[in-house]
Amino acid sequence: MYRKFLPDYYDHTLAEITPERLTALGIHALVMDIDNTVVTYDDPEPTPAARAWFDAIAAAGIRVAFVSNNEWERVERFNRSLGFPAKAKSGKPLIGGIRQLMAEMDAAPAHTALIGDQIFTDVWAGKRAGLTTFLVDPIKDKRTAFFRFKRALEKPVMRAYRKKQQKERK
Ligand SMILES: [Mg+2]
Repeated sequence: MYRKFLPDYYDHTLAEITPERLTALGIHALVMDIDNTVVTYDDPEPTPAARAWFDAIAAAGIRVAFVSNNEWERVERFNRSLGFPAKAKSGKPLIGGIRQLMAEMDAAPAHTALIGDQIFTDVWAGKRAGLTTFLVDPIKDKRTAFFRFKRALEKPVMRAYRKKQQKERK
């Protein structure tokens, strides 16, 4: 029942998603969420750790694009020093923005991964676009009732994910 929401991989942080792992999976391009995936909502620019991660990814020849549901001003400022293809107000789980970015990167679904912190926007969009999907823990959850509500909705999906993992290990 939750299959269409199950990420292919679940990691705690972006740091665990290494260029070596991506390369072994045949991934040449990344379509990435920004907020709570790369940095918190409170970081207007990439942190040194994020910058180092992007450097390592680029050194491995993996292309990066940002797909955000946030405003253009936020995305533009965050991306200014990086200069990757980027799409703001993308309306994930809609996949129009993802498709545009992939065309810009000349990336095929089989060689593209989506990385995000939300199941019903990021992971679902990635799966709909036929991409490999990585879910990470949100760096810092917004403490609003709306966000808590969304996290509560995600719980059964994560249970299904763990069950699937256990089955695969047997
Ligand atoms: Mg996010």
